Amino acid sequence: MRPAILNPLFADITALEGVGPKLAALISRAAGSRIVDLVFTLPAGLIDRSARPKIADAPYGALATFEVTVDSHHPPHRKPQPYKVIVSDETGFLTLVFFHGRPDYLKRSLPVGEKRLISGKVEDYGGERQMTHPDHIVDPKEAGALPLIEPVYPLTTGLTSGVMRKAVGHAVERAPALAEWQDAAWLHKRLWPHWLDAVKAAHAPTSNGDLSLAAPARMRLAYDELLANQLALLLIRRARIKSSGRSITSKGALRAQAMKALPFTLTNAQKEALKEIDADMAAPERMVRLLQGDVGSGKTVVAFLAMLTAIESGAQAAMMAPTEILARQHLETLAPLAEKSGVSLEILTGRDKGAAREEKLARLASGETQILVGTHALFQEHVAFKDLAFVVVDEQHRFGVHQRMALSEKGPRPDMLVMTATPIPRTLALTAYGDMEASALREKPPGRKPVSTRTIPLERLDEVVEGVKRAVAKGEQVYWVCPLVEGSDVIPATAAEDRYAAMRDILGDKVGLVHGRMTGPEKDEVMERFHDGAIKVLIATTVIEVGVNAPNATIMVIEHAERFGLAQLHQLRGRVGRSDKASSCVLLYKSPLGETAKARLKILRETEDGFKIAEEDLRLRGAGDILGAAQSGFPRFQLADLAAHAELLAAARDDAKLIVERDPDLKTPRGEALRVLLYLFSRDDAVRLIRSG
Ligand code: ADP
Ligand code: MG
Repeated sequence: MRPAILNPLFADITALEGVGPKLAALISRAAGSRIVDLVFTLPAGLIDRSARPKIADAPYGALATFEVTVDSHHPPHRKPQPYKVIVSDETGFLTLVFFHGRPDYLKRSLPVGEKRLISGKVEDYGGERQMTHPDHIVDPKEAGALPLIEPVYPLTTGLTSGVMRKAVGHAVERAPALAEWQDAAWLHKRLWPHWLDAVKAAHAPTSNGDLSLAAPARMRLAYDELLANQLALLLIRRARIKSSGRSITSKGALRAQAMKALPFTLTNAQKEALKEIDADMAAPERMVRLLQGDVGSGKTVVAFLAMLTAIESGAQAAMMAPTEILARQHLETLAPLAEKSGVSLEILTGRDKGAAREEKLARLASGETQILVGTHALFQEHVAFKDLAFVVVDEQHRFGVHQRMALSEKGPRPDMLVMTATPIPRTLALTAYGDMEASALREKPPGRKPVSTRTIPLERLDEVVEGVKRAVAKGEQVYWVCPLVEGSDVIPATAAEDRYAAMRDILGDKVGLVHGRMTGPEKDEVMERFHDGAIKVLIATTVIEVGVNAPNATIMVIEHAERFGLAQLHQLRGRVGRSDKASSCVLLYKSPLGETAKARLKILRETEDGFKIAEEDLRLRGAGDILGAAQSGFPRFQLADLAAHAELLAAARDDAKLIVERDPDLKTPRGEALRVLLYLFSRDDAVRLIRSG
């Protein structure tokens, strides 16, 4: 149960003064619906009204604060005109303008003959200074009521800065003082404030330096969030290891047979990864291992050889892919290997229907099917295995965490191998999995030719088309990828369709089109014709991003490359360079390019190492964008910035390790405080796993 001291923070924002249901809806859109969300929404900027010029010296367009005397009131003669009040200092006059001003209110707050502090933006009205709706009107005796520097919060349409600032202010007032959970020596060394002081300081910046991610208050809060993340992951991992999985071993007969059938020998990286997986499977604890490697680095083969261990031990294995096309491609890769190893393999996707599907399910339940490949259809309710011991999840960041869980519940705690071709920067992997075991295939199978990468502005499209024509004349194949058109959800394939029409005019029926709005069978038909070589130029949206194989393809053209993520571009480029022929990747961009876009495309020209690209991508764009989607299983941080706070993440991991070693049940006074920290960041799931009391 959440400690009572945190209850005020977890109340709904409607509990705040002045926040009704309508406003609450707006604020939740900008920040979140609980008070703690407001506390953790830090200012993104400042309003500085500390300039105190005389009226005659005040620059137009800038914020200023004046001490003035109220001279006269001028109510409107007719309705649409504004109410005006003339004020002055010894240098000149200023007209205050109020639309729909309430006379009684204005007379009360601006009594003629009295002094007032006025703050707002100075405007030029035909050579005279005026101020429309001053932000503040204060009696000089209460000068303290006029904040000279105010924080600015992220907003949403309909939510004004002042209203948001007030709501956050009230939220921060509710934040309680909490027992310190940070190590005293560490806090001292970093010169960080205690939690409540840090919260208050972060919401009361007095200079742009206070807004920096390196400001002490911000660092402290970021570190809290990262520590909660790392501690929760370690506690969960400890619980997983304690609740035993099963030990899966075999004599390796099936694997030996399969290796004999392979037309190549494994790379050292593959052998190393297999060794690590074998050790995990043999151990009685439940395995969860990440297998990372670029497209074409040979992950699928490794996964298959690992599955054979489970099968030889008498159990079943499954491989889940994010799309139908990929699932079919896995089937294509695995089927010949399975056949030579005498293992039965089937595919199950959303397309299986009726009696045929029932038969598949029956074979699965009886254990006759030993390996099942498929899409998310694998974890639907009525899919039952006889004994599922090993699960391979391909391209895992496309699946939600709960989908992964659903599949792993299909067996008695099956071992899990998570494959990804989008190398995950170490920092991100840490936040998502803690110190989850990871194997990396950094070494490519031998004989791969490098892909030469060029960036070309769209104006030179004609040259690229000529190049494509030459390649096609030589019998080579070409991918041509178009981005989704921004802002047209209704017809997202237009760009690809237009390009398709244009290329057909040039190359006729050698050109094919595949996009996300086509049905599965339609897509498969086109992909098959490309695979067979009937189609030479495949125009596509990013549906071909992962997996799809056509060894004869030598050119990858990516139109509007500046709109794609780096990792995505790298993935796409991985589609070519799979044969012994020289391959190239053409990144067509719309000029002019911004600095970041330039830097990103440059990285692609310089390296083909997916790990390096992923790290750079993180550095250039921040964590959120890389994985994009809300569907990604990666945590989103409110206070920490993985690029700016990478050093803190490493420290938090070490800190969390020490804590779990010394005080695994969080029973010491610091441990008690750490429980509060976990609840503060909604890691109730982790606290529940700690032995209570
Ligand atoms: P990934 O799943 O990482 O994209 P795959 O396992 O599909 O990679 O392998 C890509 C291609 O490389 C396949 O055609 C596969 O047969 C081949 N391959 C895998 N390992 C090796 C190796 N050690 N030597 C040569 N070719 C290999
Ligand atoms: Mg693959």
